[in-house]
Amino acid sequence: MTEVLSVDPESPDPATIARAAEVIRRGGLVAFPTETVYGLGANAFDDAAVGRIFAAKERDPSDPVIVHLAEPADVSLAARAIPPLALALAERFWPGPLTLVLPRAERITPRVSAGLSTVAVRVPAHPVAHALIRAAGVPVAAPSANRFGRTSATTAAHVLADLAGRIDLVLDGGPSPHGVESTVVAFENGEAVVLRPGALTLEALAAALAELGAPPPAVRRRGPSSGSPGLLERHYAPRSPLVLVRGPAERVRAWLREALDARPDTPVGLLLFDEDAAALQPLRPCHRFVSLGGRSDLAGAARRLFAALRELDADAPAAIYAVEPEQKGLGLAIADRLRRAAEEVVDLGADG
Ligand code: AMP
Ligand code: MG
Repeated sequence: MTEVLSVDPESPDPATIARAAEVIRRGGLVAFPTETVYGLGANAFDDAAVGRIFAAKERDPSDPVIVHLAEPADVSLAARAIPPLALALAERFWPGPLTLVLPRAERITPRVSAGLSTVAVRVPAHPVAHALIRAAGVPVAAPSANRFGRTSATTAAHVLADLAGRIDLVLDGGPSPHGVESTVVAFENGEAVVLRPGALTLEALAAALAELGAPPPAVRRRGPSSGSPGLLERHYAPRSPLVLVRGPAERVRAWLREALDARPDTPVGLLLFDEDAAALQPLRPCHRFVSLGGRSDLAGAARRLFAALRELDADAPAAIYAVEPEQKGLGLAIADRLRRAAEEVVDLGADG
């Protein structure tokens, strides 16, 4: 049985937090809201407890988990020999949606890192996450609280849909404010490398690095180079096949119009910006649209992304067509998630 306890996201009840912290300390699993997505937490010092995370999620043991701390000053509980640039970024962005890959401290179970000598560390800003980790008194290993490879959870209902009966407790603190995961940064030869775009934008990271007199971050590319459609590394995936359409808005709309006309009686899900949906009206009843909001509101699109994917997927359509956002700000993280969720990418060329 999975227990669900509601908490005020701004000022969680200390008695509720104490109960959840006790579950963590005893080796159990607690799902909790963070400002990025919901995490599935366990004591990062406890090898068996971390093993339970992998079992509940059916997570591949080769995929390392992020360790969450209550305070920036606790970083030495999880990591050692921290590069000066990492400390400077931590000072600038913690608490917040930045994860740093650092040499792993002795007490953190190697299972957290999938056997690597490094560990990914973050100090979340969400009051519930902060209170829980602090009360637990240990670093909390916490991947996203969804089945492995599936769409991330941004509400307690999403967590329960994937993990009910597999975990001890869910703290329901309402929807996660950012809606996409943290930005993961590693250090190579003393320089910052972005391994995963996320809720902290590349622009904000680059500005901070410039202020520190450091070079701009390198970005590790995943998947095939742009222009080549095909299968990508599957993650964040809905059950229905997702087709991601990218390119100038006019071409994207024309492609969608044609694709929908070719399947007039087939249930299709549409994950679109309002402007694109407006241009495609009228839609047939079996062509179901869920909004990402307006094209210019990328923060809103990030917040809606995973809930919208789950909503469309619930109807089990023959396909879900999604439109890629502009490649700036949070658009980078949204596009990364959509590309990895996609079974096929339709590339209609660059803007301009
Ligand atoms: P999540 O599923 O949101 O917990 O994200 C975990 C992701 O963080 C992993 O899939 C990796 O991409 C990244 N990560 C975690 N630990 C490490 C590490 N030690 N080295 C490099 N990347 C890591
Ligand atoms: Mg995940």
